[in-house]
Amino acid sequence: MSTSRQSSENSPQSHPHADCIFCRIAAGEIPAHVVYEDEQLKAFLDIRPIRPGHVLIIPKTHFSYYDDLPPELASASVHLGQRLGKAMKSLYNVERVAFLFTGTDVAHVHAHVVPMHTKTDITSPVYVEQQDLTFRLAPQAGDDELRETVAALSSCLDHAVANQ
Ligand code: 5GP
Ligand code: ZN
Repeated sequence: MSTSRQSSENSPQSHPHADCIFCRIAAGEIPAHVVYEDEQLKAFLDIRPIRPGHVLIIPKTHFSYYDDLPPELASASVHLGQRLGKAMKSLYNVERVAFLFTGTDVAHVHAHVVPMHTKTDITSPVYVEQQDLTFRLAPQAGDDELRETVAALSSCLDHAVANQ
C-alpha cells in the first residue's frame, strides 16, 4: 500500500533534506567530529555531550523514526553501537554504555551512545521524587575537547576491531 506519508516520511531520500541538520552532517556540508564512517552510517560526537565520548550514530539517508529503518540498517546501527560501547568501556573505565534512539529535537534517526558513569546519566523525571525540576540543554563542548575525544575514541575503536 502506498500513502503520501510513506512517500514523504518513511522512504529514504536520495537527496539530503535541505532543512535537516543531520542530513547535512551526513553529506559533509556541516562539520562534525567524526568517529566512524562507512557507506551507510556516520558516527560523530554530540555537540552537547552528557558525558565525554557521547556519540550519535546516524544513517546517511533520512528516516524520521527508528521503526522505519530497514532491518539491515537497524542492525548495522546496533552493531556499530556495540563496537563503540566496547571502545568506551575500555577508554572510560565504565561498566555500562547506554544506547538509545530518541529524536525529539532532530527528526533524523540517531542513536545516542553514552558512557554511563552513574545510573542517572540517562534517566527520566519519572524516577525523581522532586517533581519541580527544570531541564536545560547540556553545555556545548569546545572544539579542542571534542578533537581530543575523537582521537582517543577512534584509536580505541580501531583497537577494539583489531581484537575482535
Ligand atoms: P534529540 O533529538 O535526540 O532529543 O536531540 C538531538 C541531539 O543532537 C542533542 O543531544 C544535541 O546536542 C545534538 N545535536 C543537535 N545539533 C547538533 C549538531 O549540529 N552537531 C552535533 N554534533 N550534535 C548536534
Ligand atoms: Zn535528515
